[in-house]
Amino acid sequence: MVTAAPDNEFNVYEAAEARFEVAAKRLGLEEGLYRYMKYPNKEITVYIPVTLDNGHMEVFIGYRVHHSIVRGPCKGGIRFAPNVTLDEVRALSAWMTWKCAVVNIPFGGAKGGVICDPSKLSMGEIERITRRYTAEIIEFIGPERDVPAPDLGTNEQTMAWVMDTYSMHMRHTTTAVVTGKPLALGGSRGRKEATGRGLMIVCDCAIAKLGMKREQTRVIVQGFGNVGSMGAMLMHEAGYKIVGVADIHGALYNEKGFDIPKLIDWCYTQRKPLPEFPAGGTKMSAQEVLFQPCDIVVPAAIENQITTQNANRVQARILCEGANGPTTAAADAIIDSKGIFVIPDILANAGGVTVSYFEWVQDRQGFFWRESEVNERLKDIMEHSFDEVVRYSEAHGVNNRIAAYILAIDRVATALKQRGIYA
Ligand code: NAD
Repeated sequence: MVTAAPDNEFNVYEAAEARFEVAAKRLGLEEGLYRYMKYPNKEITVYIPVTLDNGHMEVFIGYRVHHSIVRGPCKGGIRFAPNVTLDEVRALSAWMTWKCAVVNIPFGGAKGGVICDPSKLSMGEIERITRRYTAEIIEFIGPERDVPAPDLGTNEQTMAWVMDTYSMHMRHTTTAVVTGKPLALGGSRGRKEATGRGLMIVCDCAIAKLGMKREQTRVIVQGFGNVGSMGAMLMHEAGYKIVGVADIHGALYNEKGFDIPKLIDWCYTQRKPLPEFPAGGTKMSAQEVLFQPCDIVVPAAIENQITTQNANRVQARILCEGANGPTTAAADAIIDSKGIFVIPDILANAGGVTVSYFEWVQDRQGFFWRESEVNERLKDIMEHSFDEVVRYSEAHGVNNRIAAYILAIDRVATALKQRGIYA
């Protein structure tokens, strides 16, 4: 029986914190360490004066939060959105700390944001906001301090402006100050596919563990943006059968499977709505598709898709979280009780930050890798991280999600203890 959703079920940041709390308790983290890891290292609020195209001056509010620098410089996106809050940026920065620690790349977590609506601003206005925001936080960022990346409302062009502004102040070109840059400015090969490729690699690990074969594995992917379309494409090429697809316009389900390159052409070259794909199968809502028969379900769109209200309808054996926070914390117990093998977001979608790490390494070396080298190194890291999470899950008798948090917290705590507290 489904009862009313618990209070705050849909607050993703509280959901991440709830899992941190469970994992910290399970690990027996001492009180002082717990407090150190719960709170950010540093928070900055900046007021950004910008002359708009109409000649008026507007002041935008921006934030940058460093959650942890214990394991290396901190790393995290900059989002431009009208509903950015300091609380949200703070929570996302902690999330980045755990994600970097799960895949064991030498970064802590950070996040930034500017309260603005990019859809209502011209390119020139966005450029001026970006440059002034960068100038205001300049002493807090840098290849050895904090390395921003794109997030909601920002992209490789935004990163090019951050890099240029920083470089002008430093009096030399510093490509390693941001990741997610255009290839011509020190971006990495393979970055565009990285998150989707990471999803496929951990799905490969999961099916091997459960004794399944790619060719007999039916997959549903919700979300057909960067993560979902690349994930679906790579899995299709590898032999998986993609039987369900969805984007914001709706979903299609077809037991026979979809021709994903044709669907990508339909959505991206012909710019047609996904649910109108010819001979595309049964139409349904973008959420409903998650509950159709399949072996792997990959929510790769937005948060809060699998909740206490619908988790008992998931039919998949494996839940692989492409999006951040697609399953509510309150729904975890239902998913567990059904014996579904979960590949949690902080592991499943960490391919993106891993290749960002490769971009930073390549920029610092001034030596760029072939795409095959990027992909091979990504595979090593994802497979090893998957094994570590499963090992922690078995050793601590917890589900994979809590295991991923325990692994991450353990890594940060170990580094912190070895460094000691300065003062
Ligand atoms: P995107 O904007 O490229 O694509 C989002 C997709 O989701 C689009 O196809 C959109 O139509 C669809 N969508 C939006 N609202 C929907 C809804 N209500 N129902 C169904 N579909 C909906 O974004 P992205 O970069 O692919 O990111 C997707 C998710 O993955 C986000 O949660 C993001 O935080 C997370 N993520 C992305 C990366 C990355 O490298 N891009 C890395 C880690 C995590």
